[in-house]
Amino acid sequence: MASEFDIIRRYFNRPVKRALLGVGDDCALIEGNAGEALAVTTDMLVEDRHFLRGTDALKLGHKALAVNLSDLAAVGAAPRYATLALSLPEADETWLAQFSRGLFGLADTFGVEIIGGDTTRGPRTISITAIGAVPADLVLRRDGARVGDEVWLSGCTGDAALALAHQRLEINLSGAALAHCLTRLQTPVPCVALGLALRGIATSAIDVSDGLVADLGHIAERSGVALELRYADLPQSRALKGCADARLVQQCLLAGGDDYELAFTARPDARAKIEQLAADLGLTLTCIGKVGAAEPGQVSVIDPAGNDMQLTYKGFDHFGS
Ligand code: ADP
Ligand code: MG
Repeated sequence: MASEFDIIRRYFNRPVKRALLGVGDDCALIEGNAGEALAVTTDMLVEDRHFLRGTDALKLGHKALAVNLSDLAAVGAAPRYATLALSLPEADETWLAQFSRGLFGLADTFGVEIIGGDTTRGPRTISITAIGAVPADLVLRRDGARVGDEVWLSGCTGDAALALAHQRLEINLSGAALAHCLTRLQTPVPCVALGLALRGIATSAIDVSDGLVADLGHIAERSGVALELRYADLPQSRALKGCADARLVQQCLLAGGDDYELAFTARPDARAKIEQLAADLGLTLTCIGKVGAAEPGQVSVIDPAGNDMQLTYKGFDHFGS
């Protein structure tokens, strides 16, 4: 069966003539004012697919915009505008008031103007297109990783997937761990300031939305390099450390998705700058691996004994099995 990426490649990926960059990165790029590129991205949330029926509307409004701002952050763009396409089963004004509060709460935080959209009756679906700006020569792309670079990750992965495992009754979280993981799942904060700060420092970047290994696979593929991650160096939240199921922890860390952190590569001599900007922004940035040449397009994960963990995590694919 065709995967989500096969579908895009076969039916929608045409070479661009006017655009600076088309399908295949976190954002498309079009020419803006002198020396400036405009970054454009669309992300959709569908009920029963991306969120459960009955999900808090305020949180949904926040998340629908957050996932788009995360793609802008991944290319180093400053958020500017968004349009909102909304399909709703009914005109529930309580729901709409809450959704709008959540949406504009985040929009105001990042100075985003909602400039249009479309509203229709149908299954509950939220599709946002966001536009940002970035100096054309400082765009962070997926294809810039080079052999010898180091691989970095902001924050940590796995918390949102742990919350999902709890919602599916696969594990039982409680107290601070549950509150932390639910916040990470329902109201992720896009790494906008980090994306801007990485201009001129990162050689490539991506936001982690479909799982760390799968998303880094896009960098490996588009850059034509191999990425080698050190499992023991992957940062873990207290909630994840407290989880007794080692297999689940591993899966959450490497393939969980919905993290909205930034993964990026940088030259080893950028390390001091990266550590300084982590301190300035009050963020955790961790070096989790390196870029090699061995198997271009591949991401491998090395266990503490130095062995390849031979993982086959594919990440989230809407049409995969
Ligand atoms: P992300 O996870 O960063 O949002 P996706 O994995 O959703 O990116 O998409 C991969 C690439 O394919 C992106 O460049 C996206 O713009 C593009 N894309 C996805 N769906 C379509 C489509 N239906 N038509 C054209 N391009 C698409
Ligand atoms: Mg992305």
